[in-house]
Amino acid sequence: MTIPLGPGAEFDLIRSLVERWGPRARGIGDDAAVFRPTRGDSIVASVDASVEGRHFDSAWLSPREIGYRAVTAALSDLAAMGARPRGILVAIALSENWQHKLLNIANGIGDAVDAAQTVILGGNLSAARELSFTTTVFGEAFEPLRRSGAMPGDRVYVPGRLGGVGEALRRLKAGESAAHLRERFAKPTARLEEGRWLAGAGVNAAIDISDGLVADLRHLAAASAVDIEISADRIVLMPGTDIEGALVSGEEYELAVTSPKTIDLRAFETAFGIPLTEIGRVIARGTGNVGVIGARVAARAGHDHFSR
Ligand SMILES: [Mg+2]
Repeated sequence: MTIPLGPGAEFDLIRSLVERWGPRARGIGDDAAVFRPTRGDSIVASVDASVEGRHFDSAWLSPREIGYRAVTAALSDLAAMGARPRGILVAIALSENWQHKLLNIANGIGDAVDAAQTVILGGNLSAARELSFTTTVFGEAFEPLRRSGAMPGDRVYVPGRLGGVGEALRRLKAGESAAHLRERFAKPTARLEEGRWLAGAGVNAAIDISDGLVADLRHLAAASAVDIEISADRIVLMPGTDIEGALVSGEEYELAVTSPKTIDLRAFETAFGIPLTEIGRVIARGTGNVGVIGARVAARAGHDHFSR
């Protein structure tokens, strides 16, 4: 697709991006993106930043993986809402040393968009001192899942196997090979179809695990004004990881959901090829406490940009 932009180095870069994305870039070239929402659905939107040195380290990831992760992290919030993606806006702040890698980054953004079966509706490119991405995602859902819907008596479920990302990071920081765990860290999956399936199965609250299982369950419990209890020995681990790490491992982009109904675990596993595990219960109305039976978790477990 050729886009009708005037001359200039910035616009040449934008043209090269849009060319690289091909049909995955849709309707680019106007001052704003336009899409027509499905009648009756709510629009679900979220924005997410990914900053070099904060969210990623170029020593551990290729430019393609960096682009992929930035967009996948943003899309994961749509998964948590049970929403179907309709498109993304991606703003790239590009430092000079990254300029020649821009198209590799673009490939990764394209990979993420393909994996989510969505499109790039627009974006922004600016010069900066460090590489960063700000990704806005738009989705739709008839009844979006929220964090605040959990009720006493609900079961707590988590899809997938936890711990891989935290352990991969620990190994990379220690200068060791992350081996089979590297893929979980470098190529996470936004559980979009899983999120919609769970919404259809009667889930009443959901969150994605970006800060760590316990930390994110605390957010969900606080939003729902309930207390939750989970059993450490129920949690399915990635091989080569331990439970203490898995409870706080961030950037997993798995979901944590609560449901008043029993969910058909086998049907889920058949549909998606990953386990769905009941890990605990919403025990009572409360103030957002999350108890873990069988493991010790720090009171402030999980990622927090502004904690000291
Ligand atoms: Mg989230």
